[in-house]
Amino acid sequence: MMTKQIAQIQKNLPPRGGALVAGPVSRRYLTGFESSDGLLFISPGNAVFLTDSRYIEAARAEINTCPVEELSDAAKQLRALCREQRVKRLFVETRRTTLDEVLRLRRQLPGVYIETRNSCVDNALRALRLRKTPEEADCIRRAQGIAERAFAHILGEIKPGMTEREIALELDYAMLRCGAQALSFETIAVAGENGSKPHGVPGERKIQAGDLLTLDFGAVVEGWHSDMTRTIAIGEPGEEQKKIYGIVLEAQLAALDMLGPGVACSEIDKCARDVIANAGYGEHFRHGTGHGVGLEIHEAPNLSRKSKDVLAPGMVVTVEPGIYLPGNCGVRIEDMALITETGYENLTRAGKTLVVID
Ligand code: ZN
Ligand code: ZN
Repeated sequence: MMTKQIAQIQKNLPPRGGALVAGPVSRRYLTGFESSDGLLFISPGNAVFLTDSRYIEAARAEINTCPVEELSDAAKQLRALCREQRVKRLFVETRRTTLDEVLRLRRQLPGVYIETRNSCVDNALRALRLRKTPEEADCIRRAQGIAERAFAHILGEIKPGMTEREIALELDYAMLRCGAQALSFETIAVAGENGSKPHGVPGERKIQAGDLLTLDFGAVVEGWHSDMTRTIAIGEPGEEQKKIYGIVLEAQLAALDMLGPGVACSEIDKCARDVIANAGYGEHFRHGTGHGVGLEIHEAPNLSRKSKDVLAPGMVVTVEPGIYLPGNCGVRIEDMALITETGYENLTRAGKTLVVID
């Protein structure tokens, strides 16, 4: 029995066409099996997963959606598969395949055209991965739950005098302790003037009264990622800090309010951007409003000015406007939401009233 995802790729193949999926994320998506090495060969009537001796036992035990073959001589095995399945045109994932790999396939498979343009594999995978199944959404929901428990825990641990790096490490440890299988990305913990760099790296700067501290982090469950950001105040915040926090929050709530099936992603970006621009901080919000989250931390759809995507049920997107004042401070607030048939479910539960730590 094929998964419905593999069946969807097969539906997109032209006659005599085949697909070779080599990227680890796509392989995992289509087989449910995680490995650093492997090839998924798909033809209109068949699919075979090939992996080397390090993974073969686990692959045979875990994959029940297609046959599993030990990878010993890729060139010979692929030649045989193309011959048996009458594949004359092989599509590769153009986004994941290196030029080196394409040239090797061309040498290894004489008589088979290696298709590198307008890949029907890429298109089918993008369309599939845009909309999460209820099971996939549930993994993301669990990952988010872990991140939030870790966040609630470290709010009680953060004290003036700790460095950004110490705070990031505490948060990472808490997420792993709470059940994260991995971290979604390198945790961002930036304070004071470092907070003006949206993707700053936590360093040796000690947090102190008067700082805003931005924490951007996420957990992974069964390969599925979560993503959230909160900005908190160390000591009583100043007037401008309170003001920009209020503007970012207003922009975030307005953009969240628009989420729902049929809404253009560019419109959501515009909504958040307009709130910030109307408050006079337009030039200080320079990144997109959000992005899709799934097996990768950044994936389709894109909530940006130029996006052509339209929201549909099953999509998981972030909404994360920010204001960054160079040399001074930054504020970002990020929630992750699941688009439903009628609107959206906010997967982020943590409050958004400015937390003050003394
Ligand atoms: Zn984030
Ligand atoms: Zn994000």
